[in-house]
Amino acid sequence: PPPRHGAVGRLAGPLRAPAEPRDGGPEVKTALITGITGQDGSYLAELLLAKGYAVHGVVRHASSLIANTSRLDAVYQDPHESGRRLFLHKGDVTDAGLLVNLIRDIEPDEIYNLAAQSHVRVSFDLPDYTANVTALGAIRLLEAVRASRIDARIYQASTSEMFGTTAPPQDETAPFHPRSPYGVAKLYAHWATVNYRESYGMFAVNGIAFNHESPRRGETFVTRKITRAVARIEAGLEKKVYLGNLDAVRDWGYAPEYAEAMWLMLQHREPVDYVIATGRAATVRDFAEAAFAHAGLDWRDHIEHDDRYERPAEVPELVGNPAKIEREIGWKARVHWDELARIMVDADREALHGGS
Ligand code: NDP
Ligand code: GDP
Repeated sequence: PPPRHGAVGRLAGPLRAPAEPRDGGPEVKTALITGITGQDGSYLAELLLAKGYAVHGVVRHASSLIANTSRLDAVYQDPHESGRRLFLHKGDVTDAGLLVNLIRDIEPDEIYNLAAQSHVRVSFDLPDYTANVTALGAIRLLEAVRASRIDARIYQASTSEMFGTTAPPQDETAPFHPRSPYGVAKLYAHWATVNYRESYGMFAVNGIAFNHESPRRGETFVTRKITRAVARIEAGLEKKVYLGNLDAVRDWGYAPEYAEAMWLMLQHREPVDYVIATGRAATVRDFAEAAFAHAGLDWRDHIEHDDRYERPAEVPELVGNPAKIEREIGWKARVHWDELARIMVDADREALHGGS
């Protein structure tokens, strides 16, 4: 077989793993994940590696690190290891040429477009940048698949933020009314995916995921900000945490389960868009109360309001109706927001005491 891809950043040479059975075993599938270093990308990489896939990921350049791969520690393989199945490529979804070259060379069976500037509050400060990465990144990827003539199945990470002010429960037929540059950018990517499916017959699908969290969630999203604060306050390192709107309602699920939904959607016989949600609602205040209570603390003693965490336009209430994905794909959320709060507090305590 041709040599596999080497170290991060080496883009020349044949990259494709032979799709023939190895030793008469099952076919080795190849996946490409943009956003592999993020929360979802890292869980998805673990899932696909466990299923025997060769997994390629796009890692963007950072000036201070060789690669920002801390969430991939559990599955990271040294580039010199023989028989490895995780391959990291320097790249960026703002670079169209890179995407074409990568897809042409890797010939992935499945592509998961998880790369995004994914923070709603940040998108108000960086609207142009957010559009470039989150909206145009998706169409660059779709166009790169078309240009390279690879018959890959594509998953686009759509979001409940697209529903904005539409009243819950939101399902696949609910109208979109985004409330942030992030929501607007994701809506563009969503419709681009539908359009490439309808125009070119591509197997390209949107998973309209409601909020999903985990110990790997970015530290400035509200759940992780709260659970980190609980661990630090319990340890006596802090006294207060400053938050914005506590009345917002969200449908919080557990990220590893959402990675499974993404994979299942690409195994489905037809390309169909699905809402991915738990169907349960809680306010930010409810989540905070559960997280603090898990450490025997009263949230009212530790949460202060700070205007800077309010948004110019808020999404008041997101609660998904996951009936369609449950019925047609058999995916169903198991972890709900209160258990999630406990999982995340425990992990933040452990990280604090383990010194990591
Ligand atoms: P994260 O913010 O944790 O991860 C985003 C990933 O995108 C990171 O790997 C990041 O790299 C990468 N990225 C950012 N900019 C670029 C770029 N220009 N080129 C290439 N890669 C880039 O998000 P999540 O894992 O939580 O979410 C995954 C996807 O699902 C995102 O698209 C998000 O918008 C969407 N989504 C998430 C939901 C959630 O609740 N988590 C809900 C609905 C949708 P780096 O590590 O270098 O920053
Ligand atoms: P989002 O739903 O994608 O915006 O996810 P976030 O975790 O960033 O925010 C969830 C909700 O928590 C939103 O309604 C925010 O307005 C609210 N919120 C309240 N205080 C904070 C805060 O300090 N940080 C963040 N990120 N969100 C906050």
